[in-house]
This record gives sequence, C-alpha cells and structure tokens, in this order.
Amino acid sequence: LFYKREPGYGVLCRLEEAGHEAVFVGGAVRDHLLNREATDIDIATSAEPEEVKKVFPHTFDVGIEHGTVLVVLKGEQVEVTTFRTDGKYTDHRRPDAVKFVKSLTEDLMRRDFTINALAMTKDGKLLDPFNGRLDMEKNLIRAVGDPVERFKEDALRMMRAIRFSSTLNFSIEKKTFQAIMSGGAQLSHVSVERLKLEFDKLFMGINPLNAFNYMEKSSLNLYLPLYPKDNTALIEILPFKSPKEGWAYLAIAGGFSTTNIVNAYKLSKQERKYISSVQDVYVRRLQNAYTIDDYYLFDIDVIKIAERIYNSFYKDEIAISEETIEMNKNSLRIHSIADISVDGTDLLDWTGLSGGRWTGEWISKIEKAVLYGDCQNEISSIKEWFINEFNSKR
Ligand code: ATP
Ligand code: MG
Repeated sequence: LFYKREPGYGVLCRLEEAGHEAVFVGGAVRDHLLNREATDIDIATSAEPEEVKKVFPHTFDVGIEHGTVLVVLKGEQVEVTTFRTDGKYTDHRRPDAVKFVKSLTEDLMRRDFTINALAMTKDGKLLDPFNGRLDMEKNLIRAVGDPVERFKEDALRMMRAIRFSSTLNFSIEKKTFQAIMSGGAQLSHVSVERLKLEFDKLFMGINPLNAFNYMEKSSLNLYLPLYPKDNTALIEILPFKSPKEGWAYLAIAGGFSTTNIVNAYKLSKQERKYISSVQDVYVRRLQNAYTIDDYYLFDIDVIKIAERIYNSFYKDEIAISEETIEMNKNSLRIHSIADISVDGTDLLDWTGLSGGRWTGEWISKIEKAVLYGDCQNEISSIKEWFINEFNSKR
C-alpha cells in the first residue's frame, strides 16, 4: 500500500506523534491514484521548518525560505514542506514571500492543477477540495482557481500543463487552455533552465505528440527560445528513448545548429556532444549511406536516432533497419583504439628508433589499416604491414 511505503510513511507517523498534521501531497498522490511510479514523494505539514527539524535527527535546509526541509530517514529522502500560501508574484515566477498557515486547504489552493492539489493521510484518506479526483477520472488538466491569474503568478505553469499532457496523456481543460492561448507572452519571465526540465519530461512522456499539438494550437511555441516550424514527422520517430534524443530531434527538425540549441536551452556539455554527433551522422546520411568510419566513430544509439529522424523526413528512401545498424557495428574489426593488438612500444622495438610524435601517427595509421582489413588485428600481421609501409615512406 502507498501509505505504508517507507520512508514517507515513517515520516508522517513521526510528525503526527509529535502533534503535527502531516499528509502526502501533490504529484506523489496523483501518481499513486493513477497507479504510476512517483518520481519523488512530497509531504506537507502544519509544523514549521524549525519544528520539523526537531522531530528528525537528519535534515537539510534545501528550501527553508519556502518552508521545505529535506528529511533523511533510514537512508531515504523526503521533502517536507510547511503548509503555506504564496504572497504576491511580482516577477511572474516566484512569490515575493511565503506565509506559513495552519490549514491544508489553503496550502492546496496555491498548487497549480486540481490533479496536483490532492493530499492523502497516512491511512489512505483522500483530501480533495478542488475535485481533482473527478478531473483525474476525466483525464483533465485544470488549473486551481482562475487560470489567467494562476499563469500570471507563475508562467511556468503553462509549460507544466503542456508537459503533463504528454506525461499523463491528459487533455487540457478548455478555460485552462484558453489562458495558455492568451498568456503565452508571459513565458518570457521563465528561466530557460526551468523550460528545459519541462521539455526533458515532455520528451519522455507517454504522448509527446499531444504536448506538441497543444503547444502549437495555443501558440505557446512562439514564446519559446527555439522551436521547429514543422513537427509532422515526429509521429514516425517516437518514442524517444532519452531526453537527449528529443533535443537532437528539435535541433534537426528546426534546422538549428547544435550551438544554437545548446545556448538557447542551456544544455549540458554531454548533451552538446550527443546532439552534435547525431547532427554529424545525419549529415553523412544525407550524403550517402554510413561508412565503416561512421560505424566506428559513433555510438550505436546515435546512429539509430539519426536514422529514425532521417527516415521520418525522407519516407520514400529505404530505411536502414536497427538490425542492420547493429550488425554493421558488431562486425567492425575493432571498436576502439584500445582493441589494437600492438602499441607504441612495439613500434620502437621494430624500428629501433626512440619515441616521439611519429608513434602516435603510426598507431592511427595502424588503427585504420586494421579497421579496413588491410591487415589482421594480430601482432605478426600488423608488424608485416607496418614494416612494409614504414620502409616505403622513408
Ligand atoms: P513530477 O511527476 O514531474 O514530479 P509534480 O507534479 O510532482 O511532477 P513537482 O515539481 O515534484 O511536480 O512538484 C510537486 C507539487 O508541487 C506539484 O504536484 C504541485 O502540487 C506543486 N507545484 C509544483 N510546481 C508548481 C508550480 N509551478 N505552481 C504551483 N504548484 C506547483
Ligand atoms: Mg514530484
């Protein structure tokens, strides 16, 4: 049972024993009712942060100014947040100040959507002042209160609504959707880091197409840093196996350079490397089919997603199947320079020369020779090839 799940259950019990009110809240309750694995467990409590810290020996002040304390119990972590209301949002993203309150209903009122404004006691009793359960049965994302006001407070909520349309495969309720349609310009108040995280989740959701459709129908895409003009091919590419695949898709579909997309969404170094590789493979594919070098240089996942993207754009071309890609990759004679049976010291032995830049250069030549089958990947064969080439180049 959800409410017996450690460590959240233990945290609730201890807070209650200490005389405080405490409940599971937000996404954890939503995902539990939907029979989905929750990504994180949130607990809301009437106890103020200092009181929470008295109940538990191990805590961290992760967001104490917003009332959040990270409790570590039996090696696991739970965020415990004091019931609060948010003050004014003059900057359209963060409340100027938060006020701790004693009523759970007031706390639930500040939450974005009815399906996220649910709470559950440790005994499994649902607290649902905004009929989130009913919206859940109708597969609806509906703002708590007036959506226009709620999006004015925090514009990220528009992006969250669209992200949930992918992760939950829900529809966006009409008034909530209209508020996105009219409020898009406010997205400029949201940091790209937060937008990026929503995209990561959107890509990995069960219905990204739903989100792309809402994005375009609401025109929210017009206020994003970068967004492709045409996403009709997306259906052929899905599902994405990682958020990185989604970013590579956005780059290629939009005709954006790696640098542009990386800068626009502040992507990481690893994401940059991955996207740039997919773009490279894609360009090679435009020129002709993959060569031995391509199979050698690029990770198999990079080649697969590049091929999926290519096929979605060039439907009348014959696709290179995943099996073929795997076969070609597996049948390479070597997979990296570490696989070569000789190294620099062998070259010194064979030539009687002392080391220098030339050894590295010849190891690269040997790498190519082995890769292309000009010699076998065994010492005698490499030596024979090397002596021959080396002498003829002297
Ligand atoms: P996920 O499954 O991605 O974790 P989530 O709904 O749990 O989605 P969190 O960021 O973990 O999202 O936030 C937990 C809860 O906090 C939400 O369910 C919601 O009640 C509330 N919340 C989060 N972000 C906002 C926001 N921008 N505005 C209002 N309430 C929010
Ligand atoms: Mg969550």
